Amino acid sequence: MRPYVVGLTGGIGSGKSAVADLFAERGVAIIDTDAIAHALTAPGGAAMPTIRAEFGDAVASADGALDRAAMRAMVFVEPAARKRLEAILHPLIRAESERRVVAQTVGSPYAILIVPLLVEAGGDYRSRVDRIAVVDCAEATQMARVMRRNGLAANEIERILAAQATRVERLAAADDVIENDGELAALPPQVMRLHLQYLEYSRHVC
Ligand code: ADP
Repeated sequence: MRPYVVGLTGGIGSGKSAVADLFAERGVAIIDTDAIAHALTAPGGAAMPTIRAEFGDAVASADGALDRAAMRAMVFVEPAARKRLEAILHPLIRAESERRVVAQTVGSPYAILIVPLLVEAGGDYRSRVDRIAVVDCAEATQMARVMRRNGLAANEIERILAAQATRVERLAAADDVIENDGELAALPPQVMRLHLQYLEYSRHVC
């Protein structure tokens, strides 16, 4: 029996991690595709030999991790490099997330797969998750949170937001919406309601 998988997405600073933590407290397996991407490009990461072969040793730092600044500089000069990097990373992220979904869902009723750019990825991810849950808040709220969390300037955050799907696009893709414009205390009841639903849905998967 394959595990029931809920794809959790939302823009930067929308509150995906805060929501995922609440599902984890209820014993749900959490698989974070961003964490997988980081592990793949950390020192000794499985993607590094291919990345070095494709782009040269200049994109690796002394410890063997991906040098993100060097990679960004390369993408700036040659935008197609981003696609080449994604062509290396995406299949590896996909394989590792599928492996973790199976491994971690033992003893968990279902899995939450955090995919920040799920909507941007189009049909590919939709076919791999049973349900899409979107954490939603106003862009102004995202800006305020990311400024506080990452200390980024407003124009840097605006650039990131402009490269991501819009709120409307994300909501159009959502099966479930977790509203996170208010207090953190508003999250647990919403997560609990969805958790009960997902427990029910996951019983019917075969
Ligand atoms: P994401 O994973 O979507 O980027 P996070 O869950 O990391 O977002 O939330 C971004 C920041 O905003 C974090 O520092 C988090 O603690 C904070 N945060 C999230 N939701 C709320 C909320 N409802 N009220 C106040 N702060 C919040």
